[in-house]
Amino acid sequence: MFSNIIRIIIIAFLFLSPALPLTLSPLPCFSQTEKTFKTKYSVIHFSDDKDLNDFLWRIGGKRFDYSTNPNFAKARVDRIIKRVQDILEMYPKNFSVNIYLRRGNLEINKVAYYENKTHSIFVSVDNVSDGVFAHETAHAVIYKYFPKPPSSIAQEVLTQYVDKNLWSDY
Ligand SMILES: [Zn+2]
Repeated sequence: MFSNIIRIIIIAFLFLSPALPLTLSPLPCFSQTEKTFKTKYSVIHFSDDKDLNDFLWRIGGKRFDYSTNPNFAKARVDRIIKRVQDILEMYPKNFSVNIYLRRGNLEINKVAYYENKTHSIFVSVDNVSDGVFAHETAHAVIYKYFPKPPSSIAQEVLTQYVDKNLWSDY
């Protein structure tokens, strides 16, 4: 009797466990509905067209639909990444960063953050700005540029310099 219950629990667990991560963890979600948009320096991952349009609007100041003008959309992202590299004077070879667009607050209550393990920037499209995006891009560039990344304090000095001076000579 007892062993039957154990067996049922084990069988139930074996059947249910593969589905658990899908139902319990919405973030980060690499589901099949995820779309990608590739630019020269990035691969943008998003689930809804509106997320990408909002992201482009917040980092660029003017609304438009990326699907009607994909080259303009690419340029809007790439010009900021290029600008970050120019300010730092760091040009890592074959640089391409992943950008994951999310809604609402991110897990750790930030508007954006860079994760070196996956070489990815996570941004909340509800709150991101060009300065915030440039700051996280600077972290990505610094990590790729140095064989051994500088201390987090040194990185913050550099990345904050980037977002403060993003368009200072324009
Ligand atoms: Zn930072």
